[in-house]
Amino acid sequence: PFDVLVVGGGPAGASAAIYAARKGIRTGIVADRFGGQVMDTMAIENFISVKATEGPKLVSGLEEHVRDYDVDIMSSQRASKIIGAESVGGLIEVELESGAKLKSRSLILATGARWREMNVPGEQEYRGRGVAYCPHCDGPLFKGKKVAVIGGGNSGIEAAIDLAGIVEHVTVLEFADTLRADAVLQDKARSMGNIDIIKEAQTTEVIGNGEQVTGLRYTDRKTGESKELELAGIFVQIGLVPNTEFLKGAVELSPRGEIITGAQGDTSLPGVFAAGDATTVPYKQIIIAMGSGATAALGAFDYLIRTPIM
Ligand code: FAD
Repeated sequence: PFDVLVVGGGPAGASAAIYAARKGIRTGIVADRFGGQVMDTMAIENFISVKATEGPKLVSGLEEHVRDYDVDIMSSQRASKIIGAESVGGLIEVELESGAKLKSRSLILATGARWREMNVPGEQEYRGRGVAYCPHCDGPLFKGKKVAVIGGGNSGIEAAIDLAGIVEHVTVLEFADTLRADAVLQDKARSMGNIDIIKEAQTTEVIGNGEQVTGLRYTDRKTGESKELELAGIFVQIGLVPNTEFLKGAVELSPRGEIITGAQGDTSLPGVFAAGDATTVPYKQIIIAMGSGATAALGAFDYLIRTPIM
């Protein structure tokens, strides 16, 4: 059995595996796709100490760093179930979709998240070419340009406020007839001169010139009329979905499905720790995922040295 088994090979899982392996304990990592969301990212400009890089380049650095240690890497494998130990200090079991079963004294869940997509024509085609999901990451690429934010919840209105300081103009499109964002955020957005909010707007298409986004089409749900906006960027802010469906009933999840973690990355199940975008950790970023992966690995190590083997 492993001492530490990490599920997930994004920045959180890679960081957790390196921190665990550096303690000289048996470490494994199971990942569906090594690199996670970072593989889908083009420009990364906020990974501190690296001025600018690209996702696949950062991922190859991550993999090289993990391979420098004695870590058993199981790629292209999905975990489908976890079973807690019968008693504290016992072995925790992870079932894979392939049917294989892995056992470990501690577990680190780092399965990340995925952005909820609009599922309209043009969204996939222009992803990374005007269609964006992370204002902290991609906001500065639209300096002085016009953008839209899809979604009027907290993340949408926060994104609009954030972007309004960088871009020329922001249009927020909300599907419902009211905004779900907190009143303070709505007031702040309304006080800024360059944010317009359109309610009852259903985005129906991302428009581009073959290279870049040039606008979007939406239906005014009140009149049924189809309208167009000219834009350089579209920030989709309709939710981040944690990859935790397979954990339901095994560890405690928040109402949004995020793994509830304590200060050491601990979860409701003894010996099971979690890190990164799959958890309740505030702000989903690469540097934060890596930090929380380190925390979870050190938390797991602490657990291992304090818990008698059962
Ligand atoms: P993820 O990166 O999501 O990795 C999850 C891992 O778990 C993957 O290996 C996946 O295959 C695996 N997995 C999932 N389910 C299972 C399962 N059941 N069994 C086995 N493995 C599983 N952040 C920044 O800081 N700067 C940026 O510029 C930036 N740009 C971004 C651009 C885009 C387009 C996107 C989508 C995100 C961006 N982010 C950026 C956010 C950043 O990518 C995430 O915060 C970070 O990747 C989270 O790391 P993670 O390890 O928690 O999860």
